[in-house]
Amino acid sequence: MNAQPTSTTSATRALAGRTALVTGSTSGIGLGIARALAAAGANIVVNGLGDRDAIARTCDEIRSDFAVEVLHAAADLTDATAIEGMMADALQGFGGVDILVNNAGVQHVSALESFPPSRWDVILALNLTAAFHTTRLVLGAMRRRGYGRIINVASAHGLVASPFKSAYVAAKHGLVGLTKVTALETAESPITCNAICPGYVWTPLVEAQINDQARTHGIPRDDVVRNVLLAQQPNKRFATVEEIGALALFLASDAAGSITGAALPVDGGWTAH
Ligand code: NAD
Repeated sequence: MNAQPTSTTSATRALAGRTALVTGSTSGIGLGIARALAAAGANIVVNGLGDRDAIARTCDEIRSDFAVEVLHAAADLTDATAIEGMMADALQGFGGVDILVNNAGVQHVSALESFPPSRWDVILALNLTAAFHTTRLVLGAMRRRGYGRIINVASAHGLVASPFKSAYVAAKHGLVGLTKVTALETAESPITCNAICPGYVWTPLVEAQINDQARTHGIPRDDVVRNVLLAQQPNKRFATVEEIGALALFLASDAAGSITGAALPVDGGWTAH
């Protein structure tokens, strides 16, 4: 890559020459993480669904803002075969994946008795099983390259539960468990694996939840924000995607080499209760 960065200095490009694959990075937290890693010089494999033109614009913006290479992998991560194709393309396209961020996720809010089994299957497949596949497929290459960072975007719901979110809470607790096992199996190598556990972050996923919760509780949207979503979050504000990106960037750095197997809350004090 010959282009020079336009919005960062070389002193901040600690990840130059590294490649990061961030699942679900066409939107929200994943996009925030992808931009933070790109700002530090990492080439990025963007993954996610959505309008093709909008995704192309997102990739162009990352390229032009940070002078890094960007590929888009359109794999649907509920499909194991599609994940295998994405990982093969990423490993081939950039010669390896140094930083894997398992971030793609969806939510469904419903009481257990009426929870649609098809939504359970999708949430488990995307929020948990996809991370198993990407991790198992990347570890060999990370071991050969002598460096690896696996960052799983779990949730405060990976540490504590809330009603009406059975599949999501089960998947995120599972993802924290997978994080610990991955950390233990790689502990003597230069690979680390950690989970980030955000409370509420302002993204399209939360926007959709406001509508779902308003319907479930039969209350206005403003009440959902104040009394339902942020009821548990003591600092009473949504976290930002930039705050999550900054933590992912730190976990990807050499300075974080001794942090592994951790589930790090970014939740304004929620899980301190
Ligand atoms: P978002 O809806 O903004 O983004 C979700 C991303 O996942 C998008 O890029 C979307 O295209 C992708 N995606 C959805 N289905 C997919 C599929 N089948 N295959 C591939 N990609 C798919 O959501 P977000 O709020 O940025 O959430 C990102 C992650 O952070 C999720 O795992 C979520 O559970 C977690 N999280 C979010 C919050 C929050 O408050 N926003 C809090 C805690 C944890």
